[in-house]
Amino acid sequence: MDFHPDPELEAFREEVRTFLREKLPADLAHLSIGMFSPGEAIRRWQKILHDHGWAAPSWGKQHGGTGWSVEQKLIFDEECVVAGAPTQDGFGQNLLGPVLNEFATPEQWQAHVPPTLRGERLWCQGFSEPGSGSDLASLRTRAERRGGNYVVNGQKIWTSYAHRADWIFLLVRTDPEAKKQAGISFLLADMKTPGITVRPIISIDGHHHLNEVFFDEVEVPAGNLIGAEGMGWGITKFLLNNEHATTADLPNLKMLLRKMKELAIERRIGTTRLIDRSEVALQIAAFDTELRAMAMMVSRTAAMHGDQGHFAHAFGSMLKIRATDLQQRMSVFVVELLGDGGAAAAPAPGAEYSAEMFFRRAATIYGGSSEVQRGIVAKLMFGL
Ligand SMILES: Cc1cc2nc3c(=O)[nH]c(=O)nc-3n(C[C@H](O)[C@H](O)[C@H](O)COP(=O)(O)OP(=O)(O)OC[C@H]3O[C@@H](n4cnc5c(N)ncnc54)[C@H](O)[C@@H]3O)c2cc1C
Repeated sequence: MDFHPDPELEAFREEVRTFLREKLPADLAHLSIGMFSPGEAIRRWQKILHDHGWAAPSWGKQHGGTGWSVEQKLIFDEECVVAGAPTQDGFGQNLLGPVLNEFATPEQWQAHVPPTLRGERLWCQGFSEPGSGSDLASLRTRAERRGGNYVVNGQKIWTSYAHRADWIFLLVRTDPEAKKQAGISFLLADMKTPGITVRPIISIDGHHHLNEVFFDEVEVPAGNLIGAEGMGWGITKFLLNNEHATTADLPNLKMLLRKMKELAIERRIGTTRLIDRSEVALQIAAFDTELRAMAMMVSRTAAMHGDQGHFAHAFGSMLKIRATDLQQRMSVFVVELLGDGGAAAAPAPGAEYSAEMFFRRAATIYGGSSEVQRGIVAKLMFGL
């Protein structure tokens, strides 16, 4: 492996920096500090990216994406975090988008992808139900075909950002008689449809990210079914594999590492700077090394395709386990560095770090828990 900076990539980095300097409005900057951006900021920023031809940084050109390499995408994300740009809608970009590119009819693609790329449509993911998280195939939300519609009844839970989403992609049971995976289908629904109710769940960081979503006789046009009836499980496997691979969150972790270094240089115990204490310096160096190893693993996983698909899936799971473990350890260490300030949970200097630390506890649960990922690795890599 060549560790020298690639001049083409460095030129690309400069191009991204120039774009951000010229096009990122001042009132939108610094919104990605902390992990989440407000919906309106996501919409405005997405429109700006779209007008520049950068609406979908991880999609191929044939689908309206930039066609960038993994390295280019990482550079783009990193520079966006440093500039404080809002995040993009991960549900539309990383989860649903690839599904529509692969499985939607041309009419469905035309109806949903362009508005998503223009920032006019934010999405949420309605998979989990009470009692059906890891064991997703046991889900019970029912969709019954009546004339030109599916009529949906049931409940989803932990639906991130359902309160600000325009549309939801959800898994429903269309055939209650079939073997559990075989009876599942993949539907798209407008959140404004009568019969959909969203109730907030406030998480341990004190914020509103999560919701319960109830469906009561909700009529969804049959044309919103992606793939055929019963194909939902195959589509879900495709989608979840993308989800594991995108949870590494490298750019935010690089930002956290940078802040960690700044804090260790600024802060003192007595007259000694924190960075001059060997246990602090060694820990930061260890995080730095782990992060570099993680970046290589992201590139390696993304480069796997075709006949390596089997291993790519296992690598996606390994990446999810390692990256979320690192996210948790790093966010705890930053709070520890802040001393008394780290304990502040109310608006105060350091409070955003403690909120982030609390929220990161969920990283080893969402997108498939670490225990379940370990099970996948054991099966795919070792045949256990
Ligand atoms: C912050 C957050 C955001 C989320 N956002 C969304 C969202 O937007 N959309 C959505 O659909 N869902 C979302 N989820 C739900 C998430 O996908 C589920 O919480 C997750 O899949 C775990 O399911 P569960 O909560 O039902 O726990 P369970 O499946 O009941 O698991 C309970 C415990 O048992 C363990 N366990 C379960 N099965 C096995 C097994 N086979 N082997 C070993 N251990 C096992 C688990 O690891 C866990 O520790 C979110 C969750 C969180 C916390």
